[in-house]
Amino acid sequence: MEIRVPHYYRKFKCTADRCPDTCCAGWQIVIDEDTLEKYHKFEGPFGNRLANSIDWREGVFKQYEDKRCAFLDENNLCDIYSEAGPEMFCRTCKTYPRHFEEFENVREISLAMSCPEAARMILGPKEPVKFITVEKNYKEESYEDFDFFLYSKLVDAREIIIDILQDRSYPIKMRMAMALAFSHDLQARIYRGHTVAMEEVFERYTKPGAKERFAKRLSLYEDLPKVAKDFKKGMLEQFSKLEVLRASWPELLAKTLENVEDEKLEKQWREKELDADLEIITEHLMIYFIFTYFCGAVYDEEAHSKMKFSVIGTLMVLETAKTLWAENGKGSKMEAVLEAAKRYSREVEHSDENIELLEKLSRREGVFGLKSLLTGILN
Ligand code: SF4
Repeated sequence: MEIRVPHYYRKFKCTADRCPDTCCAGWQIVIDEDTLEKYHKFEGPFGNRLANSIDWREGVFKQYEDKRCAFLDENNLCDIYSEAGPEMFCRTCKTYPRHFEEFENVREISLAMSCPEAARMILGPKEPVKFITVEKNYKEESYEDFDFFLYSKLVDAREIIIDILQDRSYPIKMRMAMALAFSHDLQARIYRGHTVAMEEVFERYTKPGAKERFAKRLSLYEDLPKVAKDFKKGMLEQFSKLEVLRASWPELLAKTLENVEDEKLEKQWREKELDADLEIITEHLMIYFIFTYFCGAVYDEEAHSKMKFSVIGTLMVLETAKTLWAENGKGSKMEAVLEAAKRYSREVEHSDENIELLEKLSRREGVFGLKSLLTGILN
């Protein structure tokens, strides 16, 4: 089996009691069947605590104030770990913040930005991210109805997208716009089942001079500040349709919506500062989303929606970061982006319902149409 990971993946280490947040509050942790059985059999005083602190019907840990896991102590450390040892963790607690995407004989693993330490590793470096593939001697897998041909084309397409996004000789806005147009052109071929015709699109976007020609055509969507503001408002309003996981999220959205009109703040935010190069952060955000989600289109044939999901996620993190930065006295932009990325990820990426709905909205709502998104990216 092939295992594919970003180059920083193996360096991740949970910062435990030094973590500025915790991953054991704010969402319900589902316990897998095998672990539930182990908890059920656990004896002694801690066995009683397990019996009383698990919702056995739902198979989740009970939660107390602020949706904190019943086993989280006042130092944000886990009592299961201290009382019973790490081998008693359920699958979710063992693997978080690792995120798994499974394909036939391929497993892709990434780190989720909802963990502050992971977010720092994903968004902090100056150099472009690389991906490493290793062969592991795991049991061969065979998925019923897995379209391996489409999957391999999606992998090729993702490589082209990553090359476009990491070409720093062009502004990131232009790179994002080109990646979006690329997936748009691919989608029609995927719907028609013309996977071979996807090659024509690959060629069109990779041949010499392709980027220069594309960049020239973008002027149509530039210098449209009023349209861009309407786009931002429309995008933020769509998020009110999503399931709310934390009470602070709608407040952040409302403040961000108010700030759309604040031109002075926008200008200050875009000015370069020593601790944060927004061009590089934007590149890392896009690649994070693309690596994690794009090839999932093998299961629903919605490659362009996965691209839109990535563009929307990137724009939302940056827009909400601007608000957090203003609230925190305009200090470090990097810290504001890290906080925004964490909050976005916890609210959107950790809810299957929200991921699904956002993808659906990206197909249905005019604000997420190609021209509207291009205006949002380029202004
Ligand atoms: S959020 Fe990340 S760094 Fe913090 S406790 Fe959880 S895994 Fe560790």
